[in-house]
Amino acid sequence: MDEFVQIHRDQQISQCKKALKYRGFHVDVAENKEELLDLVNAYIKDKDHVSDGGSQTLKECGIIASLNKRNIRFHSHSDASMTREESDLESRNAFFSDVFLMSANAITMQGEIINVDGHGNRVSAMIFGPKKVLIIAGYNKIVWDEDAAKKRIQTISAPTNCLRLHRQTPCAVTGACQDCHSKDRICSSYVKLSHDNEQRIHVILVKEILGY
Ligand code: SF4
Repeated sequence: MDEFVQIHRDQQISQCKKALKYRGFHVDVAENKEELLDLVNAYIKDKDHVSDGGSQTLKECGIIASLNKRNIRFHSHSDASMTREESDLESRNAFFSDVFLMSANAITMQGEIINVDGHGNRVSAMIFGPKKVLIIAGYNKIVWDEDAAKKRIQTISAPTNCLRLHRQTPCAVTGACQDCHSKDRICSSYVKLSHDNEQRIHVILVKEILGY
């Protein structure tokens, strides 16, 4: 990576970390995927009940594969072999987990964590239920403010996720949001986390590009 791009990235991560901490979120920074896996594995204890919100970031960094080797109870609603009823049951069980793993669609330089869900299981468990929430975000998720977060979701996260999930939405064709109301829409609930008074939310910012 170009030296100046690297300096700029480090500056942004450092400012974002400061802003997140000011709002009560616990924050770590991982240099790379290997360091991230060590942090996550140290955070999760044997026999913990762990669940996830379904995330390309988690897949890319190998966390799920790594946790599957541990003596934990891992439950995911996003197993493709499940029926909708089975998946919904796992989403409800996630409220009782010790650790809930997810990523973020965007994190602002003001320290706000911004997500949009179609079904709502991920954002609801983020807000309430699991004892701890671990949010893993590559530096590509850092944006300036809430408007930039919405732009990121409308032009990157949602269209790419629609392609990944084979959704028949306008953004999957044009590459940007058309504010559709199709049955395949994946953006129903916009949620901005602004503060954590309960020491539930732990963010790990990774100095690599992860997810979309
Ligand atoms: S509202 Fe529809 S078109 Fe816009 S990003 Fe969401 S799914 Fe795509």
